Amino acid sequence: MRVLITGGAGFIGSHLAEFHLDKGDEVHCVDDLSTGTLENVAPFRECEGFRFDRAEIRTWEALPEAIAAAERIYHMAAVVGMFRVLAEPEAVLATNVAGTERVLRCASEAGNAPRVLIASSSEVYGPVGTHRLDETDGLLVHCDTAKTQWNYALSKLAGEALGITYSGSFGLPVTIARLFNTIGKRQSGRYGMVVPRFVQQAAQGEPITVFGDGLQTRSFCNVEDAVRALHLLCESDEAEGEIVNVGNDHSITILDLANLVRELAGSGSPVVFVPDSEAYYRGFMGIRHRKPALDKLRRLVDFEHEQSLEDTIMDLLAAARPAAQGAEATG
Ligand code: UDP
Repeated sequence: MRVLITGGAGFIGSHLAEFHLDKGDEVHCVDDLSTGTLENVAPFRECEGFRFDRAEIRTWEALPEAIAAAERIYHMAAVVGMFRVLAEPEAVLATNVAGTERVLRCASEAGNAPRVLIASSSEVYGPVGTHRLDETDGLLVHCDTAKTQWNYALSKLAGEALGITYSGSFGLPVTIARLFNTIGKRQSGRYGMVVPRFVQQAAQGEPITVFGDGLQTRSFCNVEDAVRALHLLCESDEAEGEIVNVGNDHSITILDLANLVRELAGSGSPVVFVPDSEAYYRGFMGIRHRKPALDKLRRLVDFEHEQSLEDTIMDLLAAARPAAQGAEATG
């Protein structure tokens, strides 16, 4: 199979590439390297069937051609990470909305009706209560704070609406995946993601920074599990035109996560609390609880998680330690 991955040098994109190369598929990745890195795709750059282009999804001239050659497209290219979302609010809207529209338009004009997976986000559920978030829930998006915190959720929601429209009106086989807190190898903590930050802090003996009171909860899904779920959704005819949660439903408070990372690392790092107003800005509205209902995913595809949070953290710590030792050795 010929697979095109936009955002293919990103964290999840590079794992999708690896998964398909392992299956013997041809993989074409495109990425502007704004969040993604060449290091992410370095392990398989020499693989037969792998191709990489550095380009911006909204302006890449060869996009129509690349789409016409693909049987499956994973559209992962997006501006992500809360720190980046707050720093580049206009890029979030421009790249995420216009990029998705261009990919869908090219796919519908291509004539080969490639299967398209659009990466959406649990962020579209907004700051709702404590229950499991179900695809049929109404969505709550705040855009009255004079801040741009919700630009990401709005951009992902617009991407969903575009996907559903191209599926319904033009018969394009589109599936939308709402990804919930995916974690694993190659994820950078630079843009705010909590697990790589805690792992890095614990490995380097630095304070582990818990934002807010630490009682907020998240459910973390190993990236290899998430990638398998995305692939299975693309294989399912029933998933066409559907919006599906993809994640893990095992919840943990951020404070417990900090202590777990510290314990698994055998680290002496202190756990410190940083107010949200310092970590982000005054008036930041943190999401208290986020956990996916996975009934729909399980109804559509035969999927079970294979990797626990503890296993994933152990793998990340093993990868972080040599880097931390290298940093010490070089001063
Ligand atoms: N967080 C934290 N310390 C950090 C980075 C993040 O306590 O160094 C918190 C963050 O405020 C949020 C949770 O961890 O409550 C998850 O953050 P992340 O950005 O990874 O995901 P999201 O908030 O988008 O679910």
